[in-house]
Amino acid sequence: MEKIKMITPLVEMDGDEMTRILWQMIKDELLTPFIDLKTEYYDLGLEHRNETNDQVTIDSAEATKKYGVAVKCATITPNAARMSEYTLKEMWKSPNGTIRAILDGTVFRAPIVVKGIEPNVKTWKKPITIARHAYGDVYKATEMKIPSAGKAELVFTNEKGEETRELIHNFTGSGIIQGQHNICGSIESFARSCFNYALDTKQDLWFATKDTISKKYDHTFKDIFQEIYDAEYADKFKAAGIEYFYTLIDDAVARVMKSEGGYIWACKNYDGDVMSDMISSAFGSLAMMTSVLVSPQGYYEYEAAHGTVQRHYYKHLKGEETSTNSIATIFAWTGALRKRGELDNIPALCDFADKLEKASLQTIEDGKMTKDLALITTLSNPVVLNSQDFIKAIRSTLEAML
Ligand code: NAP
Ligand code: MG
Repeated sequence: MEKIKMITPLVEMDGDEMTRILWQMIKDELLTPFIDLKTEYYDLGLEHRNETNDQVTIDSAEATKKYGVAVKCATITPNAARMSEYTLKEMWKSPNGTIRAILDGTVFRAPIVVKGIEPNVKTWKKPITIARHAYGDVYKATEMKIPSAGKAELVFTNEKGEETRELIHNFTGSGIIQGQHNICGSIESFARSCFNYALDTKQDLWFATKDTISKKYDHTFKDIFQEIYDAEYADKFKAAGIEYFYTLIDDAVARVMKSEGGYIWACKNYDGDVMSDMISSAFGSLAMMTSVLVSPQGYYEYEAAHGTVQRHYYKHLKGEETSTNSIATIFAWTGALRKRGELDNIPALCDFADKLEKASLQTIEDGKMTKDLALITTLSNPVVLNSQDFIKAIRSTLEAML
């Protein structure tokens, strides 16, 4: 079989620990035998980030702006323990945070649904994709403990020095206060990323806030979404046969629990933080969750939602066998390859991505899986494979399909 040719390179962001091991296996077993893989390689492994004073992370994000599509391996976000483990010059920032700041993007997380791994919510038949606004609100709040009686106010001073005041509360005793903010430009970017991604994946878009209680703050989110939708997207949604649906956050939560799935749920920062953990655990496993960062300009960065699976990596280093699930990392590659195929008009590349996803799921449905899935599957007598053999099993299924 002739290998599939690519035109534009993918931006390849390599990473750390167990996922770095899986990364190489996936390329060797599932990609390079079938594709003339063209990538521009950036090593975001912690050692190389440290050597380059984290410049490599910035360069990889800039390259994503140049080429449009990136695929990223999970990376370590350094903490105190990592400082000594890797003798770091500095506690480098989270690469995902750095890349997100440069691309100004929104992260969409979607579960991979497969027979034998059943969601805890009986009605869910299709994936629910969560989009989380990644700026502001409680994550950039200023807080104060109020020790005793007194008056708390919100004060805004404009550039001319004129003040606008709102009373927060007249305290008669001790209490607490918090000031939150957001930026209209950031909410607009969030809205556009959500509308674009809904069109891209032909799914309805839901958005919810608490605008009945928060008549200025949350209501601004609602208004910005509606204005951008009416001005730029209503016609496109109609043509694509999809819907934009706004409701109150409590109504949205109730509807989600009774829905079939198959839509994108756009969430404010805090709602997205909390609800994405609920959705991912109710769908089965963090190892079956994909993640894509979409910028309002239409740049895409695909990855797995889980981390570097440190505990498995230490076993691997000791020479012990691991059974680490590579599905989400494989789907990061297929997402990126399919998008590259669409942008460069290479149907064979899109077709290959579809088949590799199908082969991955078929392998699980045939009863061959990693330990994390074997523990929760409804299939009887699953065969538990190690990290390498699972990828090899997917390759056999794929070869039979091609
Ligand atoms: P993790 O890598 O997500 O793994 C936590 C646990 O979840 C694992 O120990 C394992 O459970 C299970 N798990 C996750 N992915 C799995 C997979 N593919 N196959 C099988 N089991 C899987 O989180 P962590 O170990 O707490 O974090 C490790 C590093 O990842 C940290 O340095 C963190 O900074 C980084 N991180 C990176 C990203 C990213 O790059 N996007 C995201 C999150 C975390 P068992 O041990 O019970 O088998
Ligand atoms: Mg969370």
